[in-house]
Amino acid sequence: MILKNNKTKIIATYGPACESDLVFESMIKHGVDVFRFNFSHGDYEFHLKGFQKVKEFNKKYGTHIAILADLQGPKIRVGDVENGSLILKTGHQILVTNVKQVSNLEKLYVSYDRLGEDVNIGEDILVDDGKIRLQVLSIIDDQTIKVIVLEGGELKSKKGVNLPHTKTSIESLTVKDRADLEFAINNRANWIALSFVRKAEDVLEVKKVFGDAWLYLKVISKIEKPEAIENLDSILEVSDGIMVARGDLAVEVPLERVPLLQKEIVKKCNKLGKPVIVATQMMESMTERSFPTRAEISDVANAVLDGADALMLSGETSVGLYPEKVIETMSKIIDQVENNSDIYNIESYISNENSHDYIPDAVCHSAVALAEDLKAEAIIGMTRSGYTGFRVSSFRPKSKIYIFSDNKPLLYTMSLIWGVKGFYYEGFEGTDKTIKDVIDILKEKKLLKIGNIVINTASMPFDEKSKTNTVKVTIVS
Ligand code: PGA
Ligand code: MN
Repeated sequence: MILKNNKTKIIATYGPACESDLVFESMIKHGVDVFRFNFSHGDYEFHLKGFQKVKEFNKKYGTHIAILADLQGPKIRVGDVENGSLILKTGHQILVTNVKQVSNLEKLYVSYDRLGEDVNIGEDILVDDGKIRLQVLSIIDDQTIKVIVLEGGELKSKKGVNLPHTKTSIESLTVKDRADLEFAINNRANWIALSFVRKAEDVLEVKKVFGDAWLYLKVISKIEKPEAIENLDSILEVSDGIMVARGDLAVEVPLERVPLLQKEIVKKCNKLGKPVIVATQMMESMTERSFPTRAEISDVANAVLDGADALMLSGETSVGLYPEKVIETMSKIIDQVENNSDIYNIESYISNENSHDYIPDAVCHSAVALAEDLKAEAIIGMTRSGYTGFRVSSFRPKSKIYIFSDNKPLLYTMSLIWGVKGFYYEGFEGTDKTIKDVIDILKEKKLLKIGNIVINTASMPFDEKSKTNTVKVTIVS
């Protein structure tokens, strides 16, 4: 089956709104490349059904739709509140505790073990995406503090809590995350996303749990804490991908910083050849309406112009009323930008003699430059590690990017990467035959035709599976 041809990928969060086969298949046909499973919601039985749906679809149509398992991380929440709703009045003083209880107007419960130890007088505590703002007045003991309500409002059960000023000492991988990670590994997820990453060690902690799965499983760090911004370079170094998680980010840092942070993070990732996702509220209003706001149309277009590999939908597809329509609309906006603007051929490449990938980076860059000069139809890479796919994509060629590999899991991994389409290929026998083979496969799939110019990258000799060191130009005959 030929899927949508957008270069910028679409990630849809799986949820009750995608459960029917009809809707699920139609979402993919309209452009979904990756399904995200949000472990903040739903039980294993529900997620397992979703995983199976993706796998069955791939089997039926020979596609490589990927599974992204998004771990909740150390998310802090309020518990149940009296009668399901409390009105907190501005100026009132109340206690906050980590001793489990039903919250009332005297005392609020939050799920934060080190509450009294970590917070300091004067720090803010934000509830429900910052709609309610509390400030610490005094620390009573390790378990209880007193706060004043700076910005009141209605508080409902289980809302999220952010402490933007506090150096939180909570472990990055909670007991629940470890169980969820095990589930994701056992059921062959392709990507893991980690919420509230603060430092590079948080990412390494996840990788430690991988076991044999390290061979194929990749980690995305969600950037949504001020500390992650401070440690961005070291986090990038150990992560396989990045998510600009604008939902929590806009609560944790002054919200007006988010647009430029998005651009800065995306640019850094492009430079390093690490895939980057722009997430949250991209088409939020379509959760309940069949068309987006003008601001959302621009937001999606601008994320494509910034250089995102993938755009993510959350509630729009998991619980929204128009899951198919939202994908269709997003695809159209992406198409329009990709066909009518110059987002291609990033010219900022500077070779780095100290990099392990000094040679393959230069070879991939040359392939893209050559493709541009020759208006090549496609760049065709052969890779086992996937590095060529990530790297060629990072230079944003206008040509198609077709990656052949005998490493099956990699074909799914690459569904998240800008512009890359993966194909399974086993017989890496010799240059001429292999190049002819892969071109024939693409001709057969009607992705190439006689007269097209293609650029092949390869490592020679093939059987050593060494790093990419060859660029070849072929006219399809
Ligand atoms: P979440 O992450 O939806 O898991 O909170 C995304 C975000 O914070 O933007
Ligand atoms: Mn978040």
